[in-house]
Amino acid sequence: MDLLVIKNIVSNINSELIKVRRQIHANPELSFQEVDTSKLIKFYLDLWGVEYSSGWAEHGVVGLIKGTAYENSKVIALRADMDALPIQEENDLEFKSKNAGIMHACGHDIHTTCLLGAIYALHQTKDQWGGTIKFIFQPGEEQLPGGASILIQEGVLKNPEVDAILGLHVQPDMAVGQIGICEGSSMGSSEEIFIELTSSGGHAAMPHLTGDTVLTAARLICGIQELWSRIKPPLVPSVVSFGKIQTEGGATNVIPGKISIEGTFRCLDPEFREKFCEALIPFIDSTVLPFGVKAETKVVRGYPVLYNNVNLAKIWSELSIQYTDNESVVSIPPRLTAEDFARYAEVVPACFFRLGTGPSANVHSPKFIVDEAAIPLGSGILAWSAIGFLKNV
Ligand SMILES: [Zn+2]
Ligand SMILES: [Zn+2]
Repeated sequence: MDLLVIKNIVSNINSELIKVRRQIHANPELSFQEVDTSKLIKFYLDLWGVEYSSGWAEHGVVGLIKGTAYENSKVIALRADMDALPIQEENDLEFKSKNAGIMHACGHDIHTTCLLGAIYALHQTKDQWGGTIKFIFQPGEEQLPGGASILIQEGVLKNPEVDAILGLHVQPDMAVGQIGICEGSSMGSSEEIFIELTSSGGHAAMPHLTGDTVLTAARLICGIQELWSRIKPPLVPSVVSFGKIQTEGGATNVIPGKISIEGTFRCLDPEFREKFCEALIPFIDSTVLPFGVKAETKVVRGYPVLYNNVNLAKIWSELSIQYTDNESVVSIPPRLTAEDFARYAEVVPACFFRLGTGPSANVHSPKFIVDEAAIPLGSGILAWSAIGFLKNV
């Protein structure tokens, strides 16, 4: 099949896709509450005559497109996430978020739009390729346990069995026109750490009569960094950071009876991930004990390392160079942000690539913006690589 056909289709539908994107951006919905986003997706699928089933992890939409040009039993899945974040948008856009305190600050409005564009192109050309494309609009990427694990339990990778899965994410530090991939371990595992320190609390001038929660918290935060740095193999990419510390009560002369500390642990190595998680609680308990402070620690296990299948990544790069050119397809380093696309990658060969959306504040910032000019490439490359995967995987 001629790739110019795909390019023309996504270019012809571009103004409609921009409307879709703005509608989603203006009406963002939090994880697992994607009611209107789901309705909008279904509206377009109905309009185009594309069959689907809904109710996946509540608001997810999943369907199949069958290429009829020749017999091919392969099934390739395309996934987009749909949810927004609890952030108050600070951009001055005519389609700025209308929902107070909620914003598409991670580009999932673009992901959903690009998948719709790809579905349109695949549906229009289904007599020109062979095989099955399964599309997955996934709720709740930004909130544990993540929509992917629920969809997998609900059987999204089965019936028909998926041979490989492809997804994309916007990338603000890459120019529009660029697409990038990191082969192998490409995004971090993520754990959330919650520590609660308690003592009787008391007079700051008589610390010997209580447990000093403040000093113990300080000691713990430094100590955990030391533990991490000493048990981590030096070449393993990983980070532990604490982003919140809160006392209940306390004053210049009062030692508070309660302090909570919250942080995150990221890592690219599954072995060190387990080692650190196992070492953490005994370390905390033994550190606080001599200070007369009690610790309650919860480590909430998050997404695993996202592994980009090396063979698939190579095929994707070749297909992307065909679609664009040598310079537009870049190899990017791994990062320690996390993605629940990693859940699919645990089950089937997966390929997760980056779509350059131009300069902006980082994702998850109230000033995050994207250049909509990236939409045709996002849609086209999803469709073109899906067709290519059907032939090569
Ligand atoms: Zn995000
Ligand atoms: Zn995201």
